[in-house]
Amino acid sequence: MNRYYFTPGPSQLEPGIEIYFRRALQNGILSTYHRSEAFSNLYRKIHKLCQEKLQLPASYSLYFFSSATECWSVLSESVVQAKSLHICNGAFAQKWAYYAGNLHPIEKISIEALEEKDHILPLTDLLCITLNETSNGSFFPFSLLAKIRGNLPNQLIALDVTSCLGGIEIPWELGDFWFGSVQKCLGLPSGLALFFASPAAVERINTQRKSNLQYNSLFAVHQNFLKYQTTHTPNILNIFLLSEVLENRQSIESISKDTYYWASCFYKVLASLPELELCQPNPLFQSPTIITCTAREATIKQLHEYLLLQHNIVIGQGYGKDCATSFRIANFPQMPPTCKAQLIEILVDFFGKKFLNGG
Ligand SMILES: *Cc1c(COP(=O)(O)O)cnc(C)c1O
Repeated sequence: MNRYYFTPGPSQLEPGIEIYFRRALQNGILSTYHRSEAFSNLYRKIHKLCQEKLQLPASYSLYFFSSATECWSVLSESVVQAKSLHICNGAFAQKWAYYAGNLHPIEKISIEALEEKDHILPLTDLLCITLNETSNGSFFPFSLLAKIRGNLPNQLIALDVTSCLGGIEIPWELGDFWFGSVQKCLGLPSGLALFFASPAAVERINTQRKSNLQYNSLFAVHQNFLKYQTTHTPNILNIFLLSEVLENRQSIESISKDTYYWASCFYKVLASLPELELCQPNPLFQSPTIITCTAREATIKQLHEYLLLQHNIVIGQGYGKDCATSFRIANFPQMPPTCKAQLIEILVDFFGKKFLNGG
């Protein structure tokens, strides 16, 4: 029996991944010089596929990094001169702010404080938002993003979309730097991140060319992108696998519909079960891809054991200090719908029985 990973990353791999690995081996690309035409063609193909399958505007550039964490550093080193502002809605946003704060001054603001200030923010070099907070399943609503964009049209905005990139439609025009790694909604092994830059972002990158001191400085990376090359030998295996996944996936409109459909099923059922509490009870802030609940430690321990031993299913533990008192279910597109339906049934069964037996 196959094991299914509803974990928030690394996660379930794309169906067909075995075939894609075999194609990578047969293709010869893994032994080919990364400045060859073959590699440039692969890079160009992925840029096109992002436009076709993810609705990326043709004017947005695409770069490869090795992780979302690297993207945080790169933004600080290549874009921020004086100060960045970080909207903090969970542990990943905090971590981003922490690393940035070691490189230059930062300011932090919580979602609640943002509401109080009626979404009026000071202009800084970079506004940093974690769109989908993987630690607690909190989503930063697009309506809020649009409001901020409207209030501050000249503000460059960077968005970490790691745990929703490939799972939902993204309003690209509302941000300048978008990035995410591939081991979540893209169903790939870890070690690769995609980074997208708007024309305004590229303008900033080009005016900061003096930061072209490191291999991963955005100026150097962008100059290479113009030839569909990279500054160093990249993760060619994962880049090849990505091209296969994107080529074989449906368009994001249809994937996004499915993601929201299954999210509504999970939230509805989980909200109705005894002993559980949704971490994000307000639908406005509910992540469509990371569904997070709290419960008693003993109950969660039993649940993990039951899922693994009886059904060969792994769900995510809580993040960090909430490890034992919450759990996370990754609602990612690579998980077959029959498995999602099965997990929902199992949860109802597990909590129903516990309830009848008096816990
Ligand atoms: C997983 C995750 C990261 C870290 O990704 P790496 O590829 O390990 O650097 C960063 N931000 C968010 C929102 C994540 O979900």
